[in-house]
Amino acid sequence: MKELVDAATWQLVQDRLANTVGLPVVTVDLHGQIQFSSGQFPFFCTLVMKKGNQFCTLCRQDWASKAAGVYQDTCHAGLYAITVPIVIDDKKVGALMVESIRADQRLEETAVRAARLIGLEPDELVDEIPNIQLQQAHQLNTIRAMLETFAVTLPRIASERSKDRKELQQLNVLFDFLNQVNSTFDVPKILNTTLNFCMKTFPIEDCSIRHGNELARFSYLENRNVAAKPIEDALWAHVSNSRTPLFLEDIRNDFMLGQLQQSHELANSVLAVPILWDGTTKGMVALYAKPGTNMREYESLALALGKRVEVALAAAARYRHAQESAITDKLTNLYNKHYFLEMFKNEVTRAAKFKRPTSLIIFDIDHFKTYNDTYGHPEGDRLLSEMGAVLKRAVGSIDTCCRYGGEEFVVVLPETKPEHALAVAERLRQAVDGHEFPNRKTTISVGCVTCTNSSVSPEFMIKEADRALYKSKHAGRNRTTGFIIVDKNLGTIEANA
Ligand code: GH3
Ligand code: MG
Ligand code: MG
Repeated sequence: MKELVDAATWQLVQDRLANTVGLPVVTVDLHGQIQFSSGQFPFFCTLVMKKGNQFCTLCRQDWASKAAGVYQDTCHAGLYAITVPIVIDDKKVGALMVESIRADQRLEETAVRAARLIGLEPDELVDEIPNIQLQQAHQLNTIRAMLETFAVTLPRIASERSKDRKELQQLNVLFDFLNQVNSTFDVPKILNTTLNFCMKTFPIEDCSIRHGNELARFSYLENRNVAAKPIEDALWAHVSNSRTPLFLEDIRNDFMLGQLQQSHELANSVLAVPILWDGTTKGMVALYAKPGTNMREYESLALALGKRVEVALAAAARYRHAQESAITDKLTNLYNKHYFLEMFKNEVTRAAKFKRPTSLIIFDIDHFKTYNDTYGHPEGDRLLSEMGAVLKRAVGSIDTCCRYGGEEFVVVLPETKPEHALAVAERLRQAVDGHEFPNRKTTISVGCVTCTNSSVSPEFMIKEADRALYKSKHAGRNRTTGFIIVDKNLGTIEANA
């Protein structure tokens, strides 16, 4: 295999790859013999390989022969490998592997088994377990996608025939791109980084990415945004169904698309590739070039790129979900107390700086204990959930409605004067009063407080709002009490209309 490529370049690139994924990477030939090795194996693995090298070679040979696309498997010694085939001149010549030890396995059992197999004392391996850097399951997809990208780019970059070293220069662009998408959960940033990478890497004039509801376009061509839309919709219809790339040397010559084309002269050749993951189409990368450009040769790189983007966007979605679930209340779908305290503090600080008013509404369900006692806790939960919906509707903005505790809710009203805040509070109380809840008529008692120049602490405002609420309770429930704090040096005054 070594004679087919420029060995120094191959080694250089593979070292950088190992560095980027933080795990050892090897290239093997079809006999399982290591041709290039990068990164440091844990001492556990080194021990196994030293003693049981023939087993390791057999395993690698097996993996390399099985790998058509991505192949993932665990060996007897617990070494987990992600393998992708290396194809040069349409012939499989070997495989690229990232080898590591997965965090989600019983390492001690594995170590004992492996030691028996290769004739080591079990303790020799077991003692090494704490020193192993484990690969977390969530990293797998990222590594898998990166490996696929490199299986395509490495032979190109290290090809003996590549006389000018333009390919090598592009390597930096690729690593920049990988580092950037690896380090962000920001969706627009992922999309824009990818578009920039495409513009630098392919001989194109324009490009776009579609993913779920996201659409991003690199559009320095005049009027491109509007003109490209119908074409892109048609390409998407084709690519999402066929799950295969579509290349058109000139859009204008296509029977269907030709009629849609009002696009730019420079963007008439198109390569549209699906973003595929686990057999489904998640999106599309569309690359536009001058008519006559042979974009077909970039197909495999564009496909691998699409996978890298998919992994980054999926990670971003998981992150967003985790973030949202940490600040929302599951029962009512409102923000929770944690979020409220943070948001309210920011709001008061900001308003104080400009001496602007801030208002806060707090309310508590009347006689909720007897509701629970009469209809049961699950029905109580149902009422709370419905209360959340009534609250959202009455306030009109979900941005500021939070569940403060069991059956207490708060609404933050930024930049809101006392009379307006009191009006919102009353509207809310009336909305609940008029709403038909499942089992019986339900009312709330409301407290409302405004600090006209936001000079007091958020805690003090909450305390005063609570005091107003209890005044409503003592006055007979199902009513609203409003307090005004003009300035922190003046006392609180009542603001009931
Ligand atoms: P008041 O009009 O004075 O507010 O009377 P109350 O019965 O509503 O007041 P109290 O504070 O005594 O009762 C609140 C009840 O809310 C007690 C508790 O069991 C119930 N509660 C708190 N959180 C939840 C919840 O998540 N689900 C259900 N079903 N009940 C809850
Ligand atoms: Mg209560
Ligand atoms: Mg109550």
